[in-house]
This record gives sequence, structure tokens and C-alpha cells, in this order.
Amino acid sequence: MIVMYAGQIVEYGDGDAAEIFTVPKHPYTKGLISSIPSMEQSADILPTIKGTVPSLDEMPSGCRFVDRCPFAKVICSKRKPPKIIADHEVHCWMYGQEEWKEGKSLA
Ligand code: SF4
Repeated sequence: MIVMYAGQIVEYGDGDAAEIFTVPKHPYTKGLISSIPSMEQSADILPTIKGTVPSLDEMPSGCRFVDRCPFAKVICSKRKPPKIIADHEVHCWMYGQEEWKEGKSLA
């Protein structure tokens, strides 16, 4: 199973697809999963991911999800996220990267 955002892979699992549904890592994947309506609970308003996908001529140079991510730090806007293996593959600065831990928040 592959999760893509703005034309790039953000999360990838080559085994059981259910793993990404049960333990999503990337903030975009988490946002997608949290927006799935529940059959057991009614809701007037479904959760959404703030903002919109950037246009092709305005792609951020670092992480393409940076303008919508609640965890974004300065490094996310400057450098492309590394590929991390944390149970499965995720492309995000927040998983064990010292640059992200020590970095200044954008929020
Ligand atoms: S790299 Fe940064 S901005 Fe991108 S998803 Fe991870 S924490 Fe959010």
C-alpha cells in the first residue's frame, strides 16, 4: 500500500496493508484516516485536513505537506524529508531525526 501526497510517496508498506490503517505514521495519512466517517457514531461535521494541496508551480522545496501539517518545523520547509523505516516506510522528519527534535516549530 502506498500513500501519496502532491505526487510523492509519503508512506509505504510492502506487507499487510492493514498496518498503515492501524498504525499510520505520516501526518497526512493520519489526517486521511481520521476523516473516514464512522458507521457507529454520527457527526454533523467530519474532520478535515486544513488547507489545500499546493499547485504545481508553488510546491514547497522541503516537505510538500508543510503548509498543512500541525507538526511542521523550520527544517520541514527547507529540506526534503528523509525516508525512515519505522515499522514501515515513512517520509517525514519527525521520526527520530535530531534535526527535527531540536528544530524550531513553524506553528
Ligand atoms: S516532514 Fe515535517 S511538515 Fe512534513 S509531514 Fe513530517 S513533520 Fe509534517
